[in-house]
Amino acid sequence: MDAMRILLVDDVQVERLQLAVRLQRLGHVVETVGSGAEAIHRYPNFEPDLVLMDISMPDMDGVEVVRQLRRQHTEWVPIIFLSGHDEPEMIAEAIDMGGDDYLVKPVNKIVLVSKLKAMQRIANMRHQLKSTSEQLSIANEKLSEQVNEDGLTKIANRRYLDIKLAEYISTHGRSNSALTVIMIDVDHFKPYNDHYGHLEGDRCLQMVARELKDNFSRAGELVARYGGEEFVVLLSQCGQERALKECERLKKCIERLGIPHTRSTTSDFVTVSQGMLSWYPTGLETPEHIYSIVDKVLYQAKGQGRNCFIAAEFT
Ligand code: GH3
Ligand code: MG
Ligand code: MG
Repeated sequence: MDAMRILLVDDVQVERLQLAVRLQRLGHVVETVGSGAEAIHRYPNFEPDLVLMDISMPDMDGVEVVRQLRRQHTEWVPIIFLSGHDEPEMIAEAIDMGGDDYLVKPVNKIVLVSKLKAMQRIANMRHQLKSTSEQLSIANEKLSEQVNEDGLTKIANRRYLDIKLAEYISTHGRSNSALTVIMIDVDHFKPYNDHYGHLEGDRCLQMVARELKDNFSRAGELVARYGGEEFVVLLSQCGQERALKECERLKKCIERLGIPHTRSTTSDFVTVSQGMLSWYPTGLETPEHIYSIVDKVLYQAKGQGRNCFIAAEFT
């Protein structure tokens, strides 16, 4: 039998010590207390696997102590009542009040050992269940993060972007403040892939994503992968004037990354083009409509030679 942590509650010192010695001889860790109040106080820190609870005690009877323990602690621990009486009504009441079993004092040695075995089995199951549910909640947490994350770049994915943009549109509509959306597309990325290979292409996207994330990480800023080699930056409470400066800063920080691109006709290094919209949302715009506006000006930026940005008018 594995060792259990047993909290033994009995007001009669002799009986308490006798039983404690027997339990210790069976290999268990025993904490003894002489009253219900002490039991309630000791219970949370001792973290017992099993409680042995005398029923008749002067200050607070065992049934009341168990009622309070069950109310205060949601995590279930087996409790066995101890009593000198074996009337059926008393046993029934003790079980009703939250006890799991009942032992008549003086406790028979064989009965004690077998009841401990049964409780041990339950304690083991409880430990297993606890560790399984802990693992489950860690896995769940990871999963819910992954739902919003792009696998390659580890920044927010399109799903999360759509949710956030819709949310920003409605909060900015309510507070009557400006919102900025920047759509970013890597220039000449097909030739980059063709020349350096798809794996290097992936690495390039990871570097661009990291740089964007590092530069737009304040509260109210979101960087997401829109798809392929396209990214979106949301800047809340950001009007046109600041937005233009942010586009310039973004352009510079990608240039400064200095990722060589020999097949680019724009620069020796990887660059991006941007389409930007800064406006006061009514709260009724859809993300799709906003994407179509910034996509249009992004396309114009490509036409103007790339590595530049164009601001759109809300239409
Ligand atoms: P432009 O300057 O006009 O933007 O030209 P472009 O070549 O960048 O644009 P195009 O749309 O023709 O090509 C985009 C390329 O991006 C094609 C596609 O294979 C590549 N791509 C999309 N997603 C990924 C990815 O996850 N990894 C890699 N390595 N390449 C990707
Ligand atoms: Mg593209
Ligand atoms: Mg491109």
